[in-house]
Amino acid sequence: MTAAAHPGVVYLVGAGPGDPELLTLRALRLLQTADVVLPDDLVSDEVLDLASPSALVVPVGKRCGQPRITQAGIHALMIEHAYAGRSVARLKSGDPLVFGRASEEIAALTQAGIPFEIVPGITAAFAVAAGLKTPLTDRSSASKLIFATAHHAAPRPDQPAKFEIMPKWEGAFPPDATLVIYMPGRRFRLLADELIASGIEAETPCVAVSKASTPQELTHCTTLAALADEAVGPAPVILLIGQAIRP
Ligand code: SAH
Repeated sequence: MTAAAHPGVVYLVGAGPGDPELLTLRALRLLQTADVVLPDDLVSDEVLDLASPSALVVPVGKRCGQPRITQAGIHALMIEHAYAGRSVARLKSGDPLVFGRASEEIAALTQAGIPFEIVPGITAAFAVAAGLKTPLTDRSSASKLIFATAHHAAPRPDQPAKFEIMPKWEGAFPPDATLVIYMPGRRFRLLADELIASGIEAETPCVAVSKASTPQELTHCTTLAALADEAVGPAPVILLIGQAIRP
């Protein structure tokens, strides 16, 4: 591939949690003007409907460890369109820098010498907290906010991503923290048992929210002790755990 006289630009754009009202004005403007739109699976149809009718929209989602397109394939698409002088909106759910493999895309764009910008978005945790009208921090009960996932990079590039039931941390879990778990998998009861075994109080409030900010949103408000697999709605699901959570 060689660069056009006027190389294009890639925007890594946060598309928010699903509700198009939660897009930033900047994300909306880029959606309306980009030549090429490359959305992840979790980007909602309502958001994609806002793309310019003349834009080329190529979904590049990877689901449940069964990639339809590889991460390298996504890099190649971004680079190919930018070299051809096009503006590319690479849409990621929530915020592009939170559990979105942005570091790999930034490295690929940098290496290819393509100008890029990052447009923040509303991460799922913030949308969920707003929907529940619960604070994530509290002066008396939560002075720390921890965003965690149990998904890890594969040990080797040709292997699938590793998933552990529980996110790992060193030492005791801080009692004055709110824990947000992205990509929690489906074994919620086991996860709760492991969190309790690691020292988190069993009666700690816990909320599992499925498809937050969409018409299909389902909320299971409970405690770690009572978190029940069957009460949690379909993916995507996020968990909020902590004494400050008051749904
Ligand atoms: N960059 C995204 C996170 C991508 S990781 C962000 O900032 O929100 C994907 C995980 O995000 C999902 O497994 C789920 O845990 C969470 N997630 C994203 N959108 C969600 C939604 N609408 N409702 C519930 N969880 C969501």
